[in-house]
Amino acid sequence: MNFEKSEKLYNTAKTMIPGGVSSPVRAIKPFPFYTASANGSKIYDEDGNEFIDYCMAYGPMILGHNPPTVKQAIIDQLDKSWLYGTPTALEVEMAKRITNLYPSVEMMRFVSSGSEATMSAIRLARGFTKKNKIIKIEGGFHGAHDAVLVKAGSGATTHGEPNSPGIPAGVTEHTLQVPYNDIEKMAEVIEKNKNDMAAVILEPVLGNVGPILPEGDYLKELRALTAENDVLLIFDEVITGFRLAPGGAQEYFGIKPDLTTLGKIAGGGMPIGIFGGRKDIMEMISPNGPVYQAGTFSGSPCSMSAGIAVLDYLKENKVQETLNKRGDNFRKMLSDVVGDKKPDYYVSGISSLFVIFFGEKPLNYQDVLKCDAAGYMEFFHKMLNSGVFLPPSQFETNFISLAHTDDDFNKTVEAVEKNIV
Ligand code: PMP
Repeated sequence: MNFEKSEKLYNTAKTMIPGGVSSPVRAIKPFPFYTASANGSKIYDEDGNEFIDYCMAYGPMILGHNPPTVKQAIIDQLDKSWLYGTPTALEVEMAKRITNLYPSVEMMRFVSSGSEATMSAIRLARGFTKKNKIIKIEGGFHGAHDAVLVKAGSGATTHGEPNSPGIPAGVTEHTLQVPYNDIEKMAEVIEKNKNDMAAVILEPVLGNVGPILPEGDYLKELRALTAENDVLLIFDEVITGFRLAPGGAQEYFGIKPDLTTLGKIAGGGMPIGIFGGRKDIMEMISPNGPVYQAGTFSGSPCSMSAGIAVLDYLKENKVQETLNKRGDNFRKMLSDVVGDKKPDYYVSGISSLFVIFFGEKPLNYQDVLKCDAAGYMEFFHKMLNSGVFLPPSQFETNFISLAHTDDDFNKTVEAVEKNIV
């Protein structure tokens, strides 16, 4: 494959844009391919190369790239202009859909990114409880803001910077860490800090170093433990929302968190974040209460229009049901070839998420760090040259969209068989 144009673009980009990219996880070494367009399950670069895409913009494109229904909704909105700085009927329509799908989300606010959603949810949890400390899971990623950039997964781990400089110790001293799937450790840390513990925030399925799945009754026990101790439970469903089930991981696992953050799929590929939950907590948000939050682009009409279109399509076509079955089949196909070639590697996943771990089945962040991340990157490049674009890191999940066909899956499995040596 020829990457001449991408290399040239990178050489210019890196003089003005750190790493040549607008988000670190995109910084494939020695240089990333620069995308020209995308359609369905395929992404095309500036050199005219075609790849089967399992990155899918890191999750939002559940219907595939360029889906006609979402595109039409955006075009229709553009005719009416695209930013007003006033409330719209679209927000009301969107809110009705969210609260129907997520009964725990009695009230919500729309923002522009998942990061903004978790930042606001954490501030709200602290404001409501009048306590300072939060617990996050080691390797959990909740966006790039100060309170949560501690042992963070995703690009932060990929580039060896799970704790970012530039964040005063006074900020992160209130962010405590526990391993995923360890309820005893969670109970111990809550007990020790009970008087100042506002909330636990977690990805119900640890997506940003995996996916790693909850073992046994971990989530149920966590719900009971937080409730008993007056600690709020925040489910960060930016990845799992609208994917595991229409009502996300909370529907899938039957858990009712106090607050929920959503994003990615909810905007149909347009920028979005949502935080919401119990009415008594959400009423603390300004102007009803004293906890401040605001944004020029919040509730952006294009994001709302695209979001409504995607949510209606998902519902009418029972997309999650179809995708969950396809995910099961595809993981089975992958497990068979990986098991033959590399019996000590593990295919993990749930619903339409998957990853090939270059190591044994992990239960938490420390386990996943034992995987052969360098070996994975070699494999990544071989797969790219075979026309398959996987996330450029062991510490990211792959996404299947509705546009992925049996032909895509077969070609991918063939490429895995050839390249996983
Ligand atoms: N939470 C989770 C679980 C995420 O995976 C991400 C992004 N990958 C975020 C929050 C941050 O979302 P955004 O990139 O839209 O700010």
